[in-house]
Amino acid sequence: MKKVHNFYAGPSILPDFTYEETIKAIQDFAGTGISLMSISHRSKQFDAVMLEAESMFKKLLNIPEEYSVIFVGGGASMQFAMIPYNLLNKKGFYLDTGTWSSKAAKEAKLFGDVEVVSSKDKNYSYIPKGYKIPTDADYFHITSNNTIYGTEIRTDIDSPINLVADMSSDIMSRPVDVSKYAMIYGGAQKNLGPAGVTFIIIKKEILGKVDRVIPSMLNYSTHIDNGSMYNTPPVINVFATLQTLKWIEAQGGVKEMERRNIEKAKILYDAIDESKIFVGTAAKEDRSLMNICFVMKDEYKELEAEFLAFATEKGMIGIKGHRSVGGFRASTYNALSKESVIALVETMKEFEKNH
Ligand SMILES: *Cc1c(COP(=O)(O)O)cnc(C)c1O
Repeated sequence: MKKVHNFYAGPSILPDFTYEETIKAIQDFAGTGISLMSISHRSKQFDAVMLEAESMFKKLLNIPEEYSVIFVGGGASMQFAMIPYNLLNKKGFYLDTGTWSSKAAKEAKLFGDVEVVSSKDKNYSYIPKGYKIPTDADYFHITSNNTIYGTEIRTDIDSPINLVADMSSDIMSRPVDVSKYAMIYGGAQKNLGPAGVTFIIIKKEILGKVDRVIPSMLNYSTHIDNGSMYNTPPVINVFATLQTLKWIEAQGGVKEMERRNIEKAKILYDAIDESKIFVGTAAKEDRSLMNICFVMKDEYKELEAEFLAFATEKGMIGIKGHRSVGGFRASTYNALSKESVIALVETMKEFEKNH
């Protein structure tokens, strides 16, 4: 295979260990002589995978006893509806920091009042600050990392009401004080595994407090009570996610992931800040360690297409910015090596020198 550097925002790069172990299991799972694709999810071999995925999650994030970890289908987008369905009696409070948060708030409006604090006024280039969390709301919803706009909330907020966080694109990228959250969720396909499985960390005591009837599949209690096996789980995705969790542990855990992520992001942000043609789009204090967004300065704007072609030629994959921001986006998830970031920076410098 050609040497390439994968900066896609999602689905995105995963450790080689994850690919290799999953390929092996698809051929012969746990020495059973049959494929992971073709074994009952109720078999003792798969049951062990599900239990280990839960326990590895708990171990890596140091999750307190009173929380459950479950795996469901439907993507993070399904959670946008399941959250209000299960938790909203009267009002939800949403921090609107981008496309994903506004989609989450939109679903909540189907179930009750929604109060929103937004950074839409500046195309979501910053995280709102100094807002007051209404204590009459049932919960406070945040998106910790804004995959599209490249901003991130990297501290664990003290909230007087239940705090719910979409961590789709920064889960396992840093240590998190889980005790400050009532629920953390996300699609696996940014930093953990293939698309098709959603992780949910949830404090059991927040459930059972709404008046409405909830269909079984949309009720968190169903999945908790059945150990994520109420129906057939996405077995390959859970297996692959477990391999990534094992890889993270072998590398030194989430603290080491954070160290590497800070180091990688600094290399790229420094290059952007020193450049005469590129400029970052996110407010400096809110810059994401996972998705680094940059554009060309106004006077060089017409060179964007040329740079994209040049970078593609150099093996940079997936750096085209999301259409709502334009320019470029380099996603620097856990599995992306420092070498890939350096290769991108060298490509940017070489292009700059030629212009
Ligand atoms: C990608 C993404 C989503 C959407 O995830 P799906 O699994 O496709 O529904 C939601 N939130 C964030 C922060 C994301 O990055």
